[in-house]
Amino acid sequence: LTAYLNGRFAPLGDLSVPVLDRGFLFGDGVYEMIPVYSRKPFRLDPHLERLAASLAAIRIANPHTQAEWRRIIETLVRHQPFDDQSIYLQVTRGVAYPRNHAFPAEATPTVFLLADPLRTPLPAQVVSGIAAVTQADVRWLRCDIKAISLLANVLARQGAVDAGVAETVLLRDGLLIEGSASNIFVVRDGMLLAPPPSHLMLTGITYDLVLELAARHGMPHQVREITEAELRSADEIWLTSSSKEVLAIVTLDGTPVGNGAPGPIYKAMYQHYQAFKTEVMRT
Ligand code: PMP
Repeated sequence: LTAYLNGRFAPLGDLSVPVLDRGFLFGDGVYEMIPVYSRKPFRLDPHLERLAASLAAIRIANPHTQAEWRRIIETLVRHQPFDDQSIYLQVTRGVAYPRNHAFPAEATPTVFLLADPLRTPLPAQVVSGIAAVTQADVRWLRCDIKAISLLANVLARQGAVDAGVAETVLLRDGLLIEGSASNIFVVRDGMLLAPPPSHLMLTGITYDLVLELAARHGMPHQVREITEAELRSADEIWLTSSSKEVLAIVTLDGTPVGNGAPGPIYKAMYQHYQAFKTEVMRT
């Protein structure tokens, strides 16, 4: 029972959604990806709060209370044979006919969850870092909504694959925004810099945690706009996401970042992040 659809737990292969679902026809829905370590959902409350915010932004009534969401996720987690999981959660506006861009008068949201084994970064990626390329950010102006309509993100990530690297860093109007599926941090002269949350980027749960850990451990940090020039001359660049945790980007557009290896501030944050995970798993 790896999946859940509209009230029913079942093997993924037994589940299907009607072709008239607005998720299929319009990309009309939102999602979350929640990591689970040792069967404990990590930072679940912030994920459920962000889900509620995404739903509100696209005017879908939240189909469940936070307590109901927690129960569904706990049940799904319990059914898996593996301890570390990634929970994909998606809500669409539901099935409606005839096809019409505007909201249907009546539709029941489609709720889908899937549990997969969690794929955290390979040890080699943690030790040696990863490569990334940059691209112009051609997405819409509400990237703060975790929408399933991800065409621009899909094309950006394929740009990375085509270049043989791990991620594409998006730039808009000369400023660093985020990655195709990650947030980006920069270190300059010992100062950790993070782009400010806005409608132009998704504020990651990991982004918030990294800033929290920086504060907790007295690491100098600043949330402010980061120019392309500052990005390209950074001492360190990191990416963060729920599945990638914190990874050092050591090559950007083929040019080494700093000395081309994960930097000291990255290594400190990586340790803080792992220690925090261990702390949370114990409680
Ligand atoms: N930005 C984008 C565009 C993303 O898709 C993701 C990953 N879902 C993130 C940032 C990172 O968010 P989180 O730390 O919550 O996984």
